Amino acid sequence: MHFFLLVPTLLIFIGLIYASRSSNRNIQLESIIFKLYLVYCVFWTLFFSLLSQSYSDQITVFQFGIGFVAIIFFLDPLFSLILYGSATLTFVISIGYFQSSLSVVTSDILNSSYMFLIAWIASIILYKNFVSDYQLKRKVSDQVIELEDLNKKLEELSNRDSLTGIHNRRFFDKQVTDEWTLALQQNSILAIAILDIDGFKNFNDKYGHLEGDDVLKRVVGCIQENSKRPGDVCARFGGEEFVLLLPKTDISGALLVCEKIRSDVEKLKIPHLNSPTGYLTVSIGICALTPDSDENFLNFIKKADEALYEAKTLGKNRVVALKLRD
Ligand code: GH3
Ligand code: MG
Ligand code: MG
Repeated sequence: MHFFLLVPTLLIFIGLIYASRSSNRNIQLESIIFKLYLVYCVFWTLFFSLLSQSYSDQITVFQFGIGFVAIIFFLDPLFSLILYGSATLTFVISIGYFQSSLSVVTSDILNSSYMFLIAWIASIILYKNFVSDYQLKRKVSDQVIELEDLNKKLEELSNRDSLTGIHNRRFFDKQVTDEWTLALQQNSILAIAILDIDGFKNFNDKYGHLEGDDVLKRVVGCIQENSKRPGDVCARFGGEEFVLLLPKTDISGALLVCEKIRSDVEKLKIPHLNSPTGYLTVSIGICALTPDSDENFLNFIKKADEALYEAKTLGKNRVVALKLRD
C-alpha cells in the first residue's frame, strides 16, 4: 500500500525539480498535475483507512490526509469542496462494507464529516489570506514600478530646457565632466562648440519676444539636425547661447558640423532687419583637445568662449576654431 504512495510522490518531486530547471515552463499544466496528485493522496489515505478497518477501527490516516492537504496547500474553495466532499462521501458510502460495528461506523461518519467541514473552512481562510497577500504584494510592486517611472520622468524633466526641449545647463555641466573624464581615460579627442545668435537683442526688440522664442526653437532644430551621433550632447547654455559637446571629434570634424549648422540657420532666411545679411545668423566658437591630467575642463569651455568672442569681433555669422593641440 505504501508503495502506491511513495512511487507517485517520488515521480512528482522529480518532475517538479525537472520542470523548475526547464526554460519553457508550463505552469498551468504543472498546477493541474499537482492537483491530481493531491486528489490521489487524499484518496490513498481514504482507502488506507477503509482497508485497515479489518484489524483496527482507526480513520486517523484519512483525517490526517484531508487536514494535511487543507493546511499546507492553497487550494481554491471550489476545488477543496469537491475534493474533501467526494472523498468524505466515498468514505460515508463505503465504510459500512469495511466495518461491521454500527457504533464505529456512526462515529467514523461523524468524525469524517467534522473533518471535512473543518478542512474546508481552513482551506477557505488560508486561500483568502493567500489571495489578499498576493494582491497586496502585487499592488505594492505596481506602485514601486509607477514611482520609478515617475522618478525617471522627473529626472528627465529636470534635465530639459522647457522652451526648446533640449538639455539644459544642469545636464550639460554633468555631461561635460563625464565626457572629459572619459576622454582623459581613453586618451581621445573631445570638441566643444558654443553658438550664439547674432544681434538677438535687436531681433527681440524689433519682432517681439514670442517671435524670438520661436527663433530659438528653429535654431535648436538646426543644431539637432547636425549632431546626431550617439555621444553628441547639445544643450542650452543660457539665453540665446547653445553648447555642443562632440566626443571623439577633432577640430576639422567640429568645423564641418558647425559650419553646416551656421549655413542651415542662414538658409532658414529668418528676416532680421538689423543683420548685415538681412537674415538671422549665428556665430560659433570651437575648441578641441585631448585632455591631459593637469588640464581643467573649465579652461576648455573658456577657450571655446574665446573663439566665439573672436567670431563676433571678426564680424559675426562665422565659425572660429581654436586649436590647442591634437
Ligand atoms: P551679439 O550678436 O553680440 O550676440 O548680440 P546679442 O543681441 O545677440 O546679445 P545680447 O547678449 O546683447 O542679447 C541677448 C538677448 O537674448 C537678450 C535677450 O532678450 C535674448 N534672450 C535670452 N533668452 C531669451 C529667451 O528665452 N527668449 C527670447 N525671446 N529672447 C531671449
Ligand atoms: Mg549671448
Ligand atoms: Mg547673441
